[in-house]
This record gives sequence, structure tokens and C-alpha cells, in this order.
Amino acid sequence: MRILVTNDDGITSRGIQALTAAMARLGEVMVVAPDRQQSAVGHALTVASPLRAVSMELEHASIAYAVNGTPADCVKLGVSTLLPFRPDIVVSGINHGSNTSVNAIYSGTVSAATEGTLMGIPSMAVSLATFNSSADMSLAAEVAYDIASRLLDLSLPAGTLLNVNVPPIDRANYRGVKVTRQGHNAWKDGYDVRKDPQGHPYYWLTGEFVTLSEQEDGDDFAVQQGWTAVTPIHYELTNVAELNRLKGLFER
Ligand code: MN
Repeated sequence: MRILVTNDDGITSRGIQALTAAMARLGEVMVVAPDRQQSAVGHALTVASPLRAVSMELEHASIAYAVNGTPADCVKLGVSTLLPFRPDIVVSGINHGSNTSVNAIYSGTVSAATEGTLMGIPSMAVSLATFNSSADMSLAAEVAYDIASRLLDLSLPAGTLLNVNVPPIDRANYRGVKVTRQGHNAWKDGYDVRKDPQGHPYYWLTGEFVTLSEQEDGDDFAVQQGWTAVTPIHYELTNVAELNRLKGLFER
């Protein structure tokens, strides 16, 4: 099996190193990842400036490129142009931080896997639900290995990927996998307002992630209870129920 590994925290992050090592047990790993931190860039693509891909050595990978672009750029450029082989699967992560609930839409990690799906390749995103940069990645890497090893056999429908969120706990307290839906929790927005040396204000996004509802079938709830949340997601944006209701209003 040939595996394209990418992420949004950058090619030097601990998460992508742990994922690369885990995926090497499944097959040949090719890494194409951003050369810098690209969290929360969503599905952005670079269109107004050139992309550069620097070949580098990365342990457990047969090929590695650091790209001055977004996670979606990395998958698009990698699969279409850089890689000598089309990957069988795309695995994005291991992200430092939860990609549950609304985070999935901002996430570069999830968008890289979405791009894989758009290119017709079975894809998954893996996140460890803590922003502690020194958190132990070994459980998340093991979970990524288990799920990636089954990804082709799952026969996911076209356009659907897996969003995997692993709880930041030790193995003794870990409960296993729950298949969940995307939660409805959200950020209470906040900005730290500071002054630059000239006295002009600048703004730094802070915010607080708040539980709006205790959804027992939601991804956040599962992670809080010590489960890995596996959510099948898709990029089809049409609200079919609303489409039918509006047809009744506009097309009478
Ligand atoms: Mn990230």
C-alpha cells in the first residue's frame, strides 16, 4: 500500500513524525506537507503566488516534500505532480488539537483529507484532542494505524472521509472507538487586543470552546468520555430538505 501523509501543523511537527512511523508499518509512506504552521486555514488554495516544494529526508518516508502552501495545496500538488505513484490512501495528521464539531470546517488537517477524497482517494484525518504540544502521540498513532489499515476495506462512498479524534488519555483509561456525528459545539469568540510599538491596536484570536449541547452521539461527547470519535463526513454542502422546501416556494 502507498500512503500519502500530510498535515497542517507543518512537516517538522511531532504529530506528522508519529503518523509517518505508524503508516510505515502499513506500506510505503510519501510525505507532502506544509513547510510551516498552517492550522485553521481550512480548504484554502494558493493561486496568486508560486508553490515551491523542497525535497527532504524524513525518517520512515520514501519521499518527503516541504511545500510553502496549504494542506490542500500539498495533496493537490503531491498527487497530481510531485509523487511518482498515485497513493492508495491519504492520511492527514496527527493534528495537535481537536477537530470535533465546528473545528472540522476550519481545520487544515481535515481539508487535506477532504482534498484526497475530492481526488477520488480514500482519506482520513487524525487529531489528538489536546493543544499540549508535548502530549504523548503513541495512542493516537496506534489508532491511526488500526483505522488506516481498514480504510480500503470500508468502501467509503465517493466524497466521504473519516474524521478521527483521539482522546488525550493513557491506554489504561482508553475505551475504544465510537462512530459519531459531528458535534454542535462552537467557539465563544474572543480577541486579545494589544498595542504595537506605535500605539496602534492589533488583535489576536483567543476564544473559548463551549459545549452548547451534550449530544451523546456527538464527537466531542465521545472524546470527553475516553473514546476515539470516528465521524464520516462529506463536503456535499447542499441542504436537501431545504432545497425541497425552497422548490415549493420558488417554483410554484
Ligand atoms: Mn493543526
